[in-house]
Amino acid sequence: MLGRTLAGALLLCAVQAIDFRHHRYEDMVRTLFSVQNDCPYITRIYSIGRSVEGRHLYVLEFSDNPGIHEPLEPEFKYVGNMHGNEVLGRELLIQFSQFLCEEYQAGNQRITQLIHDTRIHILPSMNPDGYEVAAIQGPEFNGYLTGRGNAREVDLNRNFPDLNALMYYYEKTEGANHHLPLPDNWEEQVEPETLAVIKWMKNYNFVLSANLHGGAVVANYPFDKSRDARIRGKTSYSATPDDKIFKKLAKTYSYAHSWMHKGWNCGDFFDEGITNGASWYSLSKGMQDFNYLYTNCFEITLELSCDKFPPASALQKEWMGNREALVSYLEQVHHGIKGMVYDENNNPIGNAEISVHGVNHDITSGVDGDYFRLLMPGTYTVTASAPGYQSSTSTVTVGPAEAIQLHFYLKIAPKDGNLNTNLPKKDHRPGRTALRNPGPR
Ligand SMILES: [Zn+2]
Repeated sequence: MLGRTLAGALLLCAVQAIDFRHHRYEDMVRTLFSVQNDCPYITRIYSIGRSVEGRHLYVLEFSDNPGIHEPLEPEFKYVGNMHGNEVLGRELLIQFSQFLCEEYQAGNQRITQLIHDTRIHILPSMNPDGYEVAAIQGPEFNGYLTGRGNAREVDLNRNFPDLNALMYYYEKTEGANHHLPLPDNWEEQVEPETLAVIKWMKNYNFVLSANLHGGAVVANYPFDKSRDARIRGKTSYSATPDDKIFKKLAKTYSYAHSWMHKGWNCGDFFDEGITNGASWYSLSKGMQDFNYLYTNCFEITLELSCDKFPPASALQKEWMGNREALVSYLEQVHHGIKGMVYDENNNPIGNAEISVHGVNHDITSGVDGDYFRLLMPGTYTVTASAPGYQSSTSTVTVGPAEAIQLHFYLKIAPKDGNLNTNLPKKDHRPGRTALRNPGPR
């Protein structure tokens, strides 16, 4: 709809009655529940699991029907504070939650439409144990690494199963390019916080996501892991098949941010305020690559402040610098194409594969038969396929505004046909170990 685009150009008129402070765990939980209490009809709080020390990983959900996936309404997530000592994302997401509730109540048309058309999930802290370690030191005295890992000092952004090696192998051999298999016993190989997030990703068909960090100011997009990690210290651009859309997503954030797009920040320069992960420095077992290779979700990593633990006095300026970017990025979930996959009797087909000609990365329909495919404006040939059905192909033109709806109706395949059988899943090869001196990501 045109309304969102037009409204997007208007300044958001927020009534700032909020105090800006750092929230320790109890304070954060209280604040999230008070937002839920203030906006009960459009919010829900749920826990995706517990940290090593037993703290709940709470998610605040915004939707016109909280707790329910409505077909054709995309799921979005923001994840903050994965590194416990990188605290700005946590505070911004708490602030953002209050903002969504207040603006909805005030009748802000842009925010109201966003909540009606999107299911928004906000996890302000993925690493509440690490945060407490960092917070005891406080803003002035926090070292570069204190509180970065979880309670067992494991870096959660080096803790996801490594699917890149498999993908890089498959792309040479025309193997699977999406929803790659997890290694055996993966559940025992990851930390409780990582396990909780992976289960979360399995339970919701997320379309778009961002992961909020600190220690630099740049929007970082996949892949994080270099295709050629064997040469020591070498960095090289590692593009996904969706490189153009990832660049656009990163630029949406950097240009809507008050100063990220200018490029010079924290003594570093990033052209337009964006970077490919591997071309900055290669890292393995990160969350954003995992999102792309295991799920339908496109995730980028946002580095939001030079100072990982800024003083409370800096929070208001940071909020004003990020507020429009947080909204604009979220609105990107409504671009590209979306639709239903049905059989001949109008029954939805879940887990159908949606392939875009020329883009070597398929996405799948959710259990309700609905799919979402982020795309740049242009004309595309799109094929839907599912085991036991004949594939169906359509051509569609995507404009710059709202997602185009494209539905598929699949006929049952002839009995002795050998159509659409999935390639056998191959063994996962173990990944490399984490970098010894981690950067902000
Ligand atoms: Zn980080």
